[in-house]
Amino acid sequence: MNQRRQIIAGNWKMYKTLGESCEFIGKLAEKVKECPHSVYLAVPFTALQAASESAKESEIVIGAQNMNDASEGAFTGEVAAFMIKDAGARFVILGHSERRKLYRETNELVNRKVLQAEKNGLEPLVCVGETKEEREAGKTEEVLRQQIEESLSGVKGDFILAYEPVWAIGTGHTATPETAQETHAFCRSVLKELFNKKVSDSTPILYGGSVNPDNAGLLIKQADIDGVLVGGSSLSLEKFGKIVHASTL
Ligand code: PEP
Repeated sequence: MNQRRQIIAGNWKMYKTLGESCEFIGKLAEKVKECPHSVYLAVPFTALQAASESAKESEIVIGAQNMNDASEGAFTGEVAAFMIKDAGARFVILGHSERRKLYRETNELVNRKVLQAEKNGLEPLVCVGETKEEREAGKTEEVLRQQIEESLSGVKGDFILAYEPVWAIGTGHTATPETAQETHAFCRSVLKELFNKKVSDSTPILYGGSVNPDNAGLLIKQADIDGVLVGGSSLSLEKFGKIVHASTL
């Protein structure tokens, strides 16, 4: 295992009520006691404050799944960085492929959000990943390079990168540990070019895409995989607990 921070992160998407969130976090806190890795949970906006309170005495880090790129203003229905920070978020997922696809988020918009998060003291967890068509056309590296360069342009502070091949998200088709490792190593080389060796050596790069208790251990053992970002399996206390455990074996 490398010396970088290892992070097991859950993304709850549009699931769980306030009560369900707090109950889950209370029980998860017991399971992750003395866990050597950081455990992150990106919860719905509505559960942010209560989840942060529930996680207070534990090692669990609570964050949001999105935010607006503007500092504040007349943007009906939107939520600003300072608001999620105020509600207790410590990190925020940005550029998730669901947002890129369903809400047409471009690298440029993701970059504005990343800079806004940074300005507000939130740790950005930035997602990149190629589609099945892009991989089959041999464009994976080109796509990832562009996403990384454009989404992270001008960033000065710490961030987390998540490699999430779009074809692996919610499909049950996980990338093999070898494919994931090879792609993570490429992403790390782009960080070195874009920033410097220190940033490339110290930035955690998480793998995401159909991670479950059976495949998490092998993925995390790869040299350039510093943890996982988990969607579906993070909704189950049993499965997520097992993933955290698998990652420490
Ligand atoms: C995700 O949404 O970030 C994700 C990786 O989802 P899943 O684990 O369900 O593939």
